[in-house]
Amino acid sequence: MAYQTVNPYTNEVVKTYPNATTDQINAALAVSDNLYHEWRKNDAMEKRAKILLNIADEFRQRKNQLARIAVTDMGKLYKEAQGEVELCAMIAEYFAKHGAEMLKPTPIQTIATGEAEVQKHATGIIMAVEPWNFPYYQIMRVFAPNFMVGNPMILKDASNTPGSAEAFVNAVQEAGAPIGSLTNLFLGYDQVSEIIADPRVQGVALTGSERGGRSVAVAAAEHLKKNTMELGGMDAFIVLEDADIDEVAEIAWRTRLYNAGQVCTSSKRFIVAANLYDEFLSRLKAKFAAVVPGDPMKASTTLAPMNSKKAKEKLQSQVAEAIANGANVYYGNEPIDLPGQFFMPTILTDIDKNNPAFRTEMFGPVAQVYKVNSESEAIDLANDSEFGLGGIVFAGDADHGAEVASQIETGMVFVNNFMASLPELPFGGIKKSGYGREMSELGMMAFVNEQLIVKA
Ligand code: NDP
Repeated sequence: MAYQTVNPYTNEVVKTYPNATTDQINAALAVSDNLYHEWRKNDAMEKRAKILLNIADEFRQRKNQLARIAVTDMGKLYKEAQGEVELCAMIAEYFAKHGAEMLKPTPIQTIATGEAEVQKHATGIIMAVEPWNFPYYQIMRVFAPNFMVGNPMILKDASNTPGSAEAFVNAVQEAGAPIGSLTNLFLGYDQVSEIIADPRVQGVALTGSERGGRSVAVAAAEHLKKNTMELGGMDAFIVLEDADIDEVAEIAWRTRLYNAGQVCTSSKRFIVAANLYDEFLSRLKAKFAAVVPGDPMKASTTLAPMNSKKAKEKLQSQVAEAIANGANVYYGNEPIDLPGQFFMPTILTDIDKNNPAFRTEMFGPVAQVYKVNSESEAIDLANDSEFGLGGIVFAGDADHGAEVASQIETGMVFVNNFMASLPELPFGGIKKSGYGREMSELGMMAFVNEQLIVKA
């Protein structure tokens, strides 16, 4: 597998990177394992918290440089890349400030004589496999909490964002993190499996597709390694009959087109009450028609190219299949006359349940819109999915929206708002969207040994 940056706006091959050698892998495992034992012996949590704060500073100072690298690697809008770098700084800061409190022992009332408590200890090296769509944030979600815990991390990043992965590690090292706390290796799939098999590795975290997740989860299961899987989604955006259509229209297009639609939690299925359906479609169309494709570095551009030729071609064939099976193109699906990997924002309607599109995650700027005649029909349709990541409910009354939200079978639902990822909010799904949580205290505990100690 070639690690290569191909700028999706210009199609220029920017740089190719050689794969890691066996010696590099062995050296990384040895250094990280020594660091783990050193951290276990000398409680360096306070020191690590300070370094995490330095990392937050380092990310803020390098914001523009890091953002530019991400734009070159995978094409996202420069201003969105800057926002991603800021979010990374917030995550580092959050775990620096709150990590020690979360990792305090929890006392337990026991009827046995003696005192009991659950202590929280590091477990060893974590193998993290991360995708290209947020090439910094995805890494930070696993790195920051585990750095606080004292679990060193080996990173295998997506093969099309090697520049971002290198830049991330450079920033972390510049901030004073010891060598071995985060090592980026350009690994083939077999090498990832070999690392997972190594007894010094105690956890595996993957964000990516169902296919990639399954392979890596099988490797982890074979060696009985705890793992977290953050996979795809077919998130529903439910518009109830009393929703404020102005608010709906403003959020709907943004949630679908942010990051050129390449977000696991972006709304992919808009499920709209019959009384608002026509209005919703015409508003969404107007918003989609107003986007400006172009150079992602320019502030005036509002539609980024997709991350690669392969991704664009996959989306093209998914849309073609949807149409062949009866979907109606309400808007879009025409070529954009630019050399980059642009996909015109597209609205599909009339997708019935036999259409493969009904069960296909379209990872790009394509909205599926469904009309429903009742709230219960909306809930049933939202839950008729193998995925269970997130979702949005728009309701006239937010409390009622929250009641509907709790009937949606996913890991996260936002009411009357854009679905945001913040360090204090647990992130993750159920069903084929994976298992485990990242961020927040729940994410912090993913690879912690919650050890019971009972004193007589
Ligand atoms: P992939 O699963 O192909 O890639 C994600 C990462 O996994 C990459 O680093 C990839 O490496 C690696 N990988 C894939 N297969 C294996 C394997 N067998 N062994 C080891 N590593 C492997 O996902 P996509 O690039 O297709 O990313 C988009 C998908 O990710 C979407 O389905 C999306 O929904 C999901 N996603 C989920 C998120 C979440 O938080 N739940 C967030 C973002 C995306 P390489 O690049 O070298 O192939």
